[in-house]
Amino acid sequence: MTVSAANPLAERSNLPYQLPDFANLTAAHLREAAEAGMTGQLEALAALAADPEPATVENTLHAWERSSELLDRTIMAFYAIKASNTTDALDELYAELAPKLSAHSDAIYLDRALFDRATELATRAEAKEVTLDAEDAWALGEILRAFNRAGVALPDADQARLRQLNTRIAELSTAFEKANREGRVAGAVVVTDRAELDGLSDAEVAALETGEGEWTIQLVNTTQQPLLARLHHRGLRQRLFEASVARGLGGAHDTRALIVDIARARAEKAALLGYEHYAALIAEAGCAKTTDGVTRLMAPLGPAALTQAKADAEKLAAKLAELDPDATLAAWDWEYLADTVRRETFAFDESDVEEYLEVTKVLDAVYAAAHDLYGITFTRRADLVGHTPEAEVYEVHNADGSPVGLFVMDFWARPTKEGGAWMTSLVQQNHLTKQLPVVTNDCNYTPATTTITWDGVITMFHEFGHALHGLFADSRYASHSGPNTPRDFVEFPSQVNEHWAWEPGRVLPKEWIEKLKAASTFNQGAGTLELMAATLLDQSWHTTPLDALPAAAEEVEDFERRALERWGVAYDLVPPRYRSAYFSHIWTPGYAAAYYGYKWSEVMDADAVAWFDANGGGTRENGAWFREKLLAPGGSVDPIETYRSFRGRDPEVQPLLERLGLAGSTD
Ligand SMILES: [Zn+2]
Repeated sequence: MTVSAANPLAERSNLPYQLPDFANLTAAHLREAAEAGMTGQLEALAALAADPEPATVENTLHAWERSSELLDRTIMAFYAIKASNTTDALDELYAELAPKLSAHSDAIYLDRALFDRATELATRAEAKEVTLDAEDAWALGEILRAFNRAGVALPDADQARLRQLNTRIAELSTAFEKANREGRVAGAVVVTDRAELDGLSDAEVAALETGEGEWTIQLVNTTQQPLLARLHHRGLRQRLFEASVARGLGGAHDTRALIVDIARARAEKAALLGYEHYAALIAEAGCAKTTDGVTRLMAPLGPAALTQAKADAEKLAAKLAELDPDATLAAWDWEYLADTVRRETFAFDESDVEEYLEVTKVLDAVYAAAHDLYGITFTRRADLVGHTPEAEVYEVHNADGSPVGLFVMDFWARPTKEGGAWMTSLVQQNHLTKQLPVVTNDCNYTPATTTITWDGVITMFHEFGHALHGLFADSRYASHSGPNTPRDFVEFPSQVNEHWAWEPGRVLPKEWIEKLKAASTFNQGAGTLELMAATLLDQSWHTTPLDALPAAAEEVEDFERRALERWGVAYDLVPPRYRSAYFSHIWTPGYAAAYYGYKWSEVMDADAVAWFDANGGGTRENGAWFREKLLAPGGSVDPIETYRSFRGRDPEVQPLLERLGLAGSTD
């Protein structure tokens, strides 16, 4: 299948930096190019596998990389537009392509001829018949590991069992998602006495109204519910909390048998593929490499947070005694009392600093920080069209005037945009095709207002950190360039960039930064504890061998309790952010045995920022070091090696403990 000449994706774009020709791109073009891209890649890979010449870097790795060129540029453009400004046609195309892309990936990584070809190159390299440099060796290793995780080399009977397990896990996950969603809806708390809603604004109360004299509070995914911080009525807080933690534990939406079966199927799958347990399979694909690596960094955080949470509990109990002398502190009081104490201690009104939070001023501050550190400059290119008509395109240059790439910024919320903020790549830097990068940032600021919140400021610095990872990429292979790094690594450079928003005078004057910093460590004991409890629960479910996992629904709660006690994070006043029965991150594809990634990247972030602090802060010299050692390699070599070459050692947890105000809390 070929792409018609009229399709802007048919060839590499002629626009500067190969920016896709968004002005002339339709859903039909995307469909045609995606179909042709998949077919073309499979043909190219089949030819690569059938090549009678001995395997070389050129005819195997380079050819492999080039095989996905059309598909990559199509999918990158597609995802960028769909996330930012979707249409019915793009939504339909997404629903159509998602299963095809997943089948496409299976077709590659279950192909034995391809696997044999990659293995041949590895064997020849070992015999010194070909030479692989560090980037080649890493790229080939990643391909072989992906084949191994897919089970390509297993005997036929095992492969058949693996396919059964994959199907079974997918079905169970879907069933869990449904039961969990329905259980969440069914758990909604109905209020018939208006006085119980005291603490909420009239508008909020009106939004909860579901009938004459009837209000309904819907549950959100997490254990703690947002309104628990504000409801004065203790009885209603208790009902809301109890509805939340009871989800999935019996009744019509019981999820326990499903999660037991998912955990058991995953354990069997891992064993079949030769891994000690499922968490080992996941950790291997990450920066952590092994579950020992995960727990080495994660385990100290939980008990430190618990100690701090216990100390905070005394303050909260004292506040409760003022408000309600007969009450004993309970989990449903925690967020309410913490919010009360926070407001009393750290009065901070964002309207006082509005003048500093104008959206274009904040972007200027983001650019200024990048200029101070890296010497780069930004020039508006009003002649170029980004992935949405409102997006602004900037050309980025180094201090010496050499080009870096394009940065495309779309600030604004619109009904056709996904929530949140993100970065995407439109063109990935690589030396193989001599290409500089084009990256985007998307935010969701309200178009009518020009000022944003402090959270919005942090978000802009964060997403720009991802953009820098893409812009500074210096890799041979596009597939390993810039932010193409494991999940437990990719958030870390973006978190480091948040640090520059906190510099006094960068966005806000010193006095306000100091107030914000003081408030940011408040209640971190509980905040860290609930996250660590969920993290360690995830690890427990996925490091336990098949014969030690629960076999029946009734054993779930006992397994959970024992796991929390074993890690030293069991505390009734601060339960896990998600309990097992409604922990959708880990029972649906995505974060299974990988929930640790959130805190893991924070550990590296705080450790890297400590390096800047100890070496004179955000100087040009430090920026150059961070860019060269950490950002430029992207995913083209082992990410933990990248970290070591930047920091001179492995990441350590102490700087994060200090940042969270938990450093004195280790028992
Ligand atoms: Zn991020």
